[in-house]
Amino acid sequence: MPELPEVETTRRGIEPLIVGQRLDDFIVHQPRLRWPVCPQMATRIQHQTVHSCLRRGKYLLIEFEAGYQIIHLGMSGSLRHAPADAERLKHDHAEWRLPNARLLLHDPRRFGAILWHDRAAGPILEHPLLHHLGVEPLGTEFTPRTLHQGFKNRRLAIKNALLEGKTVVGVGNIYASEALFKAGIHPETPAGALSLYRLRKLHEAIVDTMQKALDAGGTTLQDYLDATGAPGAYFDLHAQVYGKEGAPCPRCKRPIQRMVQNQRATFYCRRCQRR
Ligand SMILES: [Zn+2]
Repeated sequence: MPELPEVETTRRGIEPLIVGQRLDDFIVHQPRLRWPVCPQMATRIQHQTVHSCLRRGKYLLIEFEAGYQIIHLGMSGSLRHAPADAERLKHDHAEWRLPNARLLLHDPRRFGAILWHDRAAGPILEHPLLHHLGVEPLGTEFTPRTLHQGFKNRRLAIKNALLEGKTVVGVGNIYASEALFKAGIHPETPAGALSLYRLRKLHEAIVDTMQKALDAGGTTLQDYLDATGAPGAYFDLHAQVYGKEGAPCPRCKRPIQRMVQNQRATFYCRRCQRR
């Protein structure tokens, strides 16, 4: 599943290719995505110039004069930049026709989304899908105090509190396991029980984990821009604990444990991670 670093890498990949370009056409081949694609969207953006390409959480925001397209890549989505005459692949559900190229949304499982937010409807960040999101993990607003404030009095397990995305956004299942291992925090620790000292470690571990994933993305950026059409592959995160049940802990060599929290797999070291 594309996580925040993949979405940010996609954004960085397509931004220089589409911003400032005038859209010739927007064509939907399969409107039945997670939510139906609004049939009037094409007429709202046709012949308009792309003003910006932003990201909030895992949503890409393509800005036009009339408003924004909100794009989510779902479970299996990717965006691909291709020459104007490139062949469309199976599962290419939407395309943005630019003067000399095309941008294609490829999504075999169709859990992705393309929504429209009219400028007249108010500020984009107040959209119902965006307004409740926590702070960006790679932004300057994210500090140990953010975690301290957000988790105060919460009895929810820290792993689940991270996945909620209400305090800090985009720390997905793999990243949460990895960050908690780095910070030496047991995934079942009640979020509100963590001291500011331990939350400082967690903050540092989250930033480090997300930044490393983003750096890995930078090196595979060409996958997203592959003109010959192979959809972008997602990053191979060099996990220390995630998916490593039974393997020796990188620190203490005892076997990594697996458990299920809120129906999601968690990997951790019983010795190195304390409540
Ligand atoms: Zn260990």
